[in-house]
Amino acid sequence: MSGIYIHIPFCKQACHYCDFHFSTSMKKKEEMVLAIAKEIQMRKSEFEKDQVETIYFGGGTPSVLTSEEINFLIAAVYNSYSVSENPEITLEANPDDLSEERIIELSKSKINRLSIGIQSFFEDDLQLMNRAHNSAEAKKCLEVATQYFDNISLDLIYGVPGMSNEKWKQNIETALSFGIPHISSYALTVEPKTALNKLIQTGKIEKPKDEVAEEHFAILVEALEANDFIHYELSNFGKANYFSKNNSAYWLGKKYMGIGPSAHSYDGVSRSWNVSNNSLYLKSIQEDKLPNEIEILSAADRYNEYIMTGLRTIWGVSLDRIKTEFGFVYLEYLNKQVQKFLNDELVLVEDNVLKTTKKGKFLTDGIASDLFYLNLEE
Ligand code: SF4
Repeated sequence: MSGIYIHIPFCKQACHYCDFHFSTSMKKKEEMVLAIAKEIQMRKSEFEKDQVETIYFGGGTPSVLTSEEINFLIAAVYNSYSVSENPEITLEANPDDLSEERIIELSKSKINRLSIGIQSFFEDDLQLMNRAHNSAEAKKCLEVATQYFDNISLDLIYGVPGMSNEKWKQNIETALSFGIPHISSYALTVEPKTALNKLIQTGKIEKPKDEVAEEHFAILVEALEANDFIHYELSNFGKANYFSKNNSAYWLGKKYMGIGPSAHSYDGVSRSWNVSNNSLYLKSIQEDKLPNEIEILSAADRYNEYIMTGLRTIWGVSLDRIKTEFGFVYLEYLNKQVQKFLNDELVLVEDNVLKTTKKGKFLTDGIASDLFYLNLEE
């Protein structure tokens, strides 16, 4: 199984917390769509033996594309690749782009999954984050989208300064009231080169507190599990049969191809990434050159990646796989490093699979980095 990720590097406005690659100028949008279609075609030999099972439009804000542009890019994939019979085709979309008319239009396309960037249903949170939509748009688009799409995910952000536990619970309840089958939820994090960082440095916004984020995470897990969601990845909750196929494949170490500026690819041996600059990307594609850098992964890189993704998911880290794929040295190293987390009941081993416990879940990233193989001689 393999997937194609298409990065659409445009947003209407910059959210204060975001450090993804995007431009708020739409001047090069049409040129970009043509270049992305060309990259799709240029790379077809990479997937000669693979069948594409998922196509994912991420960004940026893919919903700034017209339906014709989206259909054009999907057709470009079908023209150059073998696509499975029922591929999962996801569009990340923001509420301000999802009018009723637009949702109906999208429902007639091959898009069969929407991932909607709600973030919060409260006006003050949306303003603090500088989102382009308001609370009424968030609710209205879900009301309509659920009539036309069955497979919908929404994003929520917790740990926002000023967000009480009560307010967070209300956000979750409002999300649940729409009956959607998938929720992705992240703690607000302060990335170095963002407006949020500047606003905190200058005292205009309070710094998000880890202990608040931890409480919000516990509230989230409890509320969603009580509503039959499966906590299948640290930040992702889905009802049975509604896990994101695209993201699950990525977490399970499957092959994927990233198209568009800043997109990353992985083929099991190496990873590559496209230049994070729209003009340089366009120039390179126009000159028939792929604008990417490639890195062959060492065993330590692949082990570290597996530890991180494995611990974040319900599938865990198979100790048998560590032994067969990486060797005894890695297994011994892991057994030694993990001891303190086993003693503190932050992780457990079940059927020879290492997983985080409920108590350790929120600390997953920290635990994983403590298990990384740092100074291994290859
Ligand atoms: S819409 Fe998404 S990608 Fe664009 S600035 Fe906001 S968070 Fe970042």
